[in-house]
Amino acid sequence: MEIQVKDISKIYGTNESRVVALNHASMTIFESDFISIMGPSGSGKSTLLHIISGLDKPTSGSVLYGSTDIHNGSDKQLSTFRRQKIGFIFQQFNLLPVLTARENIIMPMLLDKNQPDEKYFKQLTELLGLEMRLSHLPHEMSGGQQQRVAIARALIAQPDIIFADEPTGNLDSKSGSEVMKMLCDIREKMNKTLVIITHDPRIAEMADRRFTMVDGELTEVSA
Ligand code: ADP
Ligand code: MG
Repeated sequence: MEIQVKDISKIYGTNESRVVALNHASMTIFESDFISIMGPSGSGKSTLLHIISGLDKPTSGSVLYGSTDIHNGSDKQLSTFRRQKIGFIFQQFNLLPVLTARENIIMPMLLDKNQPDEKYFKQLTELLGLEMRLSHLPHEMSGGQQQRVAIARALIAQPDIIFADEPTGNLDSKSGSEVMKMLCDIREKMNKTLVIITHDPRIAEMADRRFTMVDGELTEVSA
């Protein structure tokens, strides 16, 4: 499904505290695209990803998935759509500390009153090297392992589109490259669309299309 981001602006606060986080950002994301977005801290990257993925609403502009404007429906419609179509990977992993790796991974399925496809679960956790960690709690795992659990959780409902906001930002360079390698592998094998925010030029260069963000303005870097 094609995603059209049309003239998105996001303004926080009023008067002295007014911040223009996004300034008329537009982009089209094609099926199976691998896109990277770089830019200084505070330039609006997370705000953009949150709005494209339906975690936050724009001040103006629209986000179309096919012909559906995701910010035009009810909150309930949007959260169902998000759980089925979109996987989101955060810098801070955001695992639930009292649940095991397996329980964290299948949580989105349970929220939708579905059971995970065990064959797919096995394939996914093997690709992420998590077979031996499934009964561990987050605090019993390394940062790299926790992020791999978070990636499995983002993919368990077999979404078409993966958004990742600085997924290696909390990892040392070795586990960061491991995580990136697995994410790229999975994208290729499963033919997913991947949009990734990163500070790391080496990661940005892995993508097929590169964008930069400066002061809320989004620009595609031509090849
Ligand atoms: P980045 O991810 O590129 O570091 P963000 O999208 O997080 O940037 O933030 C862009 C700008 O919007 C920053 O100036 C930030 O302080 C501001 N901002 C982000 N979220 C909020 C919020 N909830 N309320 C007020 N300002 C915010
Ligand atoms: Mg950010």
